[in-house]
This record gives sequence, C-alpha cells and structure tokens, in this order.
Amino acid sequence: MSEVRINEAIDTLKQSGVRITPQRHAILEHLIQSMTHPTADEIYKSLEGKFPNMSVATVYNNLRVFKEVGLVKELTYGDASSRFDCVTTEHYHIICEGCGKIVDFHYPGLDEVETLAESVTGFDVGHHRMEIYGTCPDCKTKKH
Ligand SMILES: [Zn+2]
Ligand SMILES: [Zn+2]
Repeated sequence: MSEVRINEAIDTLKQSGVRITPQRHAILEHLIQSMTHPTADEIYKSLEGKFPNMSVATVYNNLRVFKEVGLVKELTYGDASSRFDCVTTEHYHIICEGCGKIVDFHYPGLDEVETLAESVTGFDVGHHRMEIYGTCPDCKTKKH
C-alpha cells in the first residue's frame, strides 16, 4: 500500500524534474509511512542515524520541494513547528490537547460552508481548514 504511494510520489517528482537523492527518498518514505504529521525536526531525528551528514536545513529544503510539487501540505500553528502532511484525499484533523498528536479522519468536504462564506463576505474562497480538539485515547488512559 505505502509502497505504491511512494512510487507514485517518486513519479510525480521525476515528472517535475526533481532529482531523487537517497535522502530525498528516505524523507518521502518516512512521511508516507509515519502518518503522524511530523515536524521537520522529528523527521530529522528519525533519519539522522541513517544519514549522519544530513542537517535539519536539508530536511526543510526537501519538504519545500515536496510542497511545491503538491505532495505535502504544511500545517502551520503560529509557532516555529510546522507539521507536514502527505496529501492524499481531502481529510480533516483531530488534535490531542494533551500530547499534540494529529489524527486524520474523513468527512464529506464542507463545500456548503465555502459557498456560504463566499456569498456572505464576497471573498473568493480558496480552501478551508477544520480542526477538532480533544483528548486522544492514549492520554485518556494516562489520566486514570
Ligand atoms: Zn494525546
Ligand atoms: Zn492529515
């Protein structure tokens, strides 16, 4: 499953004229397999054993390349730590207020909200982002 997605992502990069380096491949693989919306720092930490010469800046540069070709989305939270999400189908996020974990869930796109926002405000709507907050099952168990 993730094998197929990695190959598709690599095809997308090749078609955009992006060279596939071993580091680039590893970062992509990590993003697709982790499903945890990692920060650049987390990706760096999990790969530094494999690539001792790699810097956090390298990870950032690669993520920027992936973002430019539309393979990842950057989720900014107003602090320095952006999280990176592999673009699959449209999905929404639920975020744990205890540990910060982000989990995907699928729900039909809220197109009618966009249409309403457009007609009420006169904006051209580009996209929307919905996040739900709560306590994840792990954190719930820890409390008891
Ligand atoms: Zn949690
Ligand atoms: Zn996501």
